[in-house]
Formats: sequence, structure tokens, C-alpha cells
Amino acid sequence: MSVLMEATAPPTVEPRGALRSFLHHRMGVIGAVMLLIAVLVAIAAPILAPYDPYANVRVNILDIYQAPSGEHLLGTDDGGKDVLSSLIYGARVSLIVGFAAAAIALLIGGLVGIVAGYRGGWVGSLLMRITDFFLVIPDLALQIVLVAIIGPSLGTIILVIGALGWTTTARLVRSQALTVRERKYVMRARAIGAGDAHILRRHILPAVLPLMLANMVLVISLAILSESTLAFLGLGDPTVISWGQMLNFAFGRGAVSAGAWWALLPPGFAIVWVVLGTTLLGTALEDALNPRLKRHHLESPGSDVARDRRVEELEPRELTTPSAGAVAAPRDPAAPAAQEESARRDEGPILRVRDLSIEFDTPSGKHLAVEGVSFDLNRGETLGLVGESGCGKTTTVLGIMRLLPPGGRVVSGSVWFEGDDLLSLDGPALRSFRWTRLSLVFQGAMNALNPVRTVGDQIAEAVRLHAPGTGQREALDQSAELLERVGIGRRRLNEYPHTYSGGMRQRAMIALALACDPDVIVADEPTTALDVMIQAQILELLGGIARDLGTGIILVTHDLGVVAQVCDRVVVMYGGAVAEENDAATVFREPQHPYTQELLQSFPDLAHPDRPLRGIPGAPPRLDDMPPGCRFAPRCPHAFDRCREERPPEYAAAGGRAACFLLDPTGPREAVPSAEPRP
Ligand code: SF4
Repeated sequence: MSVLMEATAPPTVEPRGALRSFLHHRMGVIGAVMLLIAVLVAIAAPILAPYDPYANVRVNILDIYQAPSGEHLLGTDDGGKDVLSSLIYGARVSLIVGFAAAAIALLIGGLVGIVAGYRGGWVGSLLMRITDFFLVIPDLALQIVLVAIIGPSLGTIILVIGALGWTTTARLVRSQALTVRERKYVMRARAIGAGDAHILRRHILPAVLPLMLANMVLVISLAILSESTLAFLGLGDPTVISWGQMLNFAFGRGAVSAGAWWALLPPGFAIVWVVLGTTLLGTALEDALNPRLKRHHLESPGSDVARDRRVEELEPRELTTPSAGAVAAPRDPAAPAAQEESARRDEGPILRVRDLSIEFDTPSGKHLAVEGVSFDLNRGETLGLVGESGCGKTTTVLGIMRLLPPGGRVVSGSVWFEGDDLLSLDGPALRSFRWTRLSLVFQGAMNALNPVRTVGDQIAEAVRLHAPGTGQREALDQSAELLERVGIGRRRLNEYPHTYSGGMRQRAMIALALACDPDVIVADEPTTALDVMIQAQILELLGGIARDLGTGIILVTHDLGVVAQVCDRVVVMYGGAVAEENDAATVFREPQHPYTQELLQSFPDLAHPDRPLRGIPGAPPRLDDMPPGCRFAPRCPHAFDRCREERPPEYAAAGGRAACFLLDPTGPREAVPSAEPRP
């Protein structure tokens, strides 16, 4: 099971692209202009209004409902006051209610949504049930009751509308936070030692704020409508003039029977104007900022993305690289570099994993995804963790790093990192351990880098998290040096991940992994989806790090060509358990386990290009459907009866170990296979 399977989450918004997208949205621009006009009118009311509608003036009967004239462009109302002036001042009240109530709704909804989405679990469920409860209550009826009970003042109206208008914001924010929480760059932030507050501030909030902004504009229009409705029903603040209040007075005081259309139409038109403007603007913002609806701003022709795909890769280096997926000759243990590594090995392992078992909750109950995995890693050693997808490689390393997704947990075993018991570390101790001692290069660099933050900023984030006294400028300088170390010029420091090519992003991830000079780097499928030349550069880079810096590397891969090129030792995994472990040269020359043999048969061999390739029939076992005996038995060409009943222990073989009954020194080595080996 690949627990790092990419979520079907929407991409995060890139600000410049969103702005471009919004400006192309004609109706949105019209809406923004309409709202801007209303705001300017409200601000300039004392200048624009020909009369002060709040002034006490003496009126006589002839002043009431005067038709529009040069003196009163929109006539007068039931109190003999200038309708145009009331209309202009009314904009202030309507907009203040709209903006203030929307801000309250945004605050409550945003808080509820972020907590529910980020925390999840019972807290999230409880908050969403409360949200659902408020959603099913008719807003207007409750607003009328509350305003009538508390008393119709402007403050009450704002509070009531705001306190009842947060539900849609909460649901929207919760779904976005839930999605972003699972993104790889959030997992990467957690891996570099960031706490919840940091992740919320630097990763979750920037992702949900654009949606909250778009939603706020729509909430403003609803709040203005609600205020107008309350005022029209006689529940508006009697001390202020709002458009709803003007309509209430006009309808209640005979404007219809007097034929005074000018007392009715202008406030009605003003409400429609602002509500239409905010709706158009809100819809356009949602289109631009919510990538679920549109994503053309992320990849429009001529955009940075399209242009930067032509960015040249790094200078090709002289590499003796096998073709993609081909198995090159494994590293020679007699070579000087290998001898150095052997000396380092004598210092004792830096990482010691023993009987590690990891369990996952599934719809059919709890199941072990990893069972009894043991291996050591020495300083400066590169260990390949190999197997097909779903064999437990990634789960194993995530368990070691304590980064298992929800529903997964280590149930037994130990992970010792020199003198530290990794499984007993928690909180700040675990956060400071990660990245300074043990860091991770994630699979799929594009998803592990936050698309709305520059690469330099993201590397500097790791530097500053572990050296809090470091200033941003100093951290950026270190980031530039790290980028140069992995072959990326410092001029790319302030660029966004989408302007990097695939190989450069992977190098940037390696630079990020090196940020705190760790002792061990776990590289999870670092060359997947890269072409052969770039793959060679990445592998050479990793090999150089192990060689020159003495960093231990665990390379998680399904590609035996990659293993042959850089690994000193190999652990082959199948069905969540170790099938075989040995030094790389022996694994390639004398594979002991039938799974390793089959795996080698399914990869091209440069030394024997004519050899026909053959795949392994069937698929790795599912978590909830593990065979009772040997996990490889359903696919093994040598399986016999005992294989289907007992789980094979590990036997010493060819200087390593392998879990296969064929290697049992007490049993018949040439047990009769129950099925003919495949030709
Ligand atoms: S134990 Fe049996 S089924 Fe398993 S790998 Fe060995 S021979 Fe094949």
C-alpha cells in the first residue's frame, strides 16, 4: 500500500495566476467596479449628499413626497427629506452592516473550519454537527426572533447576522483545510520539525485565506440583504438611515398610495446594485481562487508554467548511467570507496531497526502493513529498500520517521538512532530530531513543495525552525548555498517551484533535506518520473552526499537499476516483510529468495540484452488478504505445501539472510515444487 499516494486534492492557488484569472473575468471586474462605486459613495457621503438627512428641519405638508425636481433630484420622502441624500447616507449603513457582519461570519466560520479540518477526528465531527445544526435553521426567522428579543440596534443587527452567517464559510474552509492537511508539503513541513501553530500559519492559512476572501464577498451581499429585510420588517435601527429603512418608511407611510415611486425605486435599486456587484465579484473571486472550479490560471498558455517548462536542465555530466530501469553492474566491494564504507560500517550502525510492525485501520479492521522488519544502516552507507508498489517500503520509512498517516501506528519493535529510541521521542524532542539527524526526500517533489512559496523560503523555513535565532536573510543565504551545492544557481532562490523543471525540483528537495546537515537521509523514490539523464544526476548527487558527507541514505525504490548504481546493501521487501537482505553485489549475482530472483528477471540486464524479460504473475497481497503461509506463495514458482501453511523464518544465506523454506538447512532444499517454474 502506498500511503503517500497523491491525494486528489485541488492545487493550491498561485497569487499572480489567480489575479490574472480574475482580471480575465469580465463580470467579476464589473462587480468590483459596482462595489467600488458604492464604497466611494458611502465614504464621500458628506461631500456628495446635497442635504444632511440627519439634520432636524421643519417641514410642512407640501414638502412630503415632492416629485423629483432641480432642488431634489430624487424627490422627497414621507418626512419631506431629500431622497438622494438619504440614499447616499444609507449606503454607509448598508455597507457597514455588510462588511462587519461578514467579518464576524468569516472569523467564526474560518476558526471552526480550520479547527475541524486540521484536527479532524471527534473534534472535527462535533464541530461539523454543530455547523449542520445551524445550517438547517432558517436564518431569517432566527434573525427576526433574536433582533426582536435583543432590540433593534445597529450593533445587534451586525452581531446577529454575523453570528448566524458563518456556516457556509466553515464548511468551505473545513474541506480546504482537510485537503491541505494531507498534502505532501504539509507532511514535509511536519517532517522538518514544524509544530501545529507553524503549519497552520505558514501552510494552512495561506491555502484557505483566498477561499475565505471569495466567500466573504458573497457573505457581504447576504448580510446587506438580511439587514434590508430586517429594516423593511421594522426591525432596523430607528436612529440610522439604511436602504431597508427607507423602503420600510416608504411602504408603511403611504408612498404607494401617493404614487411616490421615487421613494421606493432608488433604495430598491441601490440594494440590487450592491448585491449584484458583490455577487459578481464573489463568483469571479471564487472562480479565480478556488482551483476546484477552475485551474486554467495555473497552466494557461504563455503562463510561467508553459514558459518555464523550457528551462534548461543542468549541464549533462559524464555519467555511466544504465538505461532507464536497466540493471547495471553492481558496485564492486573491492573498490576504494567501498573499502571506505566498509571502514565506516565497522563504527557500528547509526540506525538500527528491529522487528518493526505497523498496523493500519481499514474498513475490515486492523491489519499489519509491515511485520517484523529489521535492518541496520551504517554511516555513509546507502541502503536500498526495494520491492514492488504495495510491499511496505514507504510505510516502513514513514514509521521510522513517525510520519504515518492517520489510521497507521507502530505496534511493536524498536528504532534506535545511535543512543536515541526514536519510537519513544515525542513533541519538541521529536520535532528537533527530525531534519537535524534524520531527514526525508519526498516522492514527487512538486507536491512536497508549497506552490505559493518560493523554494528559497521553504529551505530557509527548515533552517530557521532548527536555529530559531537565525534571521531570514541569513537563512536565505544558507538556502542559496544549499541550492548551489545541489547544482542549482542561487539566482533561482526566489523562484516558485513551478518555475523549476522536474529534476531541479528534486534537487531542491535534496537541498531541503540537507538544510540541517542530517546524519541520515531517507529518499523515497527520488527518481520516479524523471528521465534517464536527470535520474543519473540525482543518483550521482545522492551518492556524492553519502561519500563526501558520510550521510547514511535509505533509498526507497522499485527500480533495481537505481539500486545497482548507488546502493551498498539491499533489503528486498515483500508483503510488508523482509524477503532478503544482503550486500548489493551478492543480491544481483546470487539472489537467494525466489521473489528477488523473479524481480531481477523482470528488469532488463545490460550484460545480457538478449535475455527475454518476464513479469511476475499476479500482484502483491492486499493488507486485508494476506496469505496464511509465505506471502509470496501465490506467485512463487517453487511453492510447496509447507509454504502455504507456515510463515518462513529468515535463514542465513550467501552472507546475508532470506525468508524462504528452500534455505532451511534442516529441510529438503530440493523440495518438490507444486507448480512448474515459469519458462
Ligand atoms: S517459502 Fe516457499 S513460497 Fe515462499 S518464497 Fe520460499 S519457496 Fe517460495
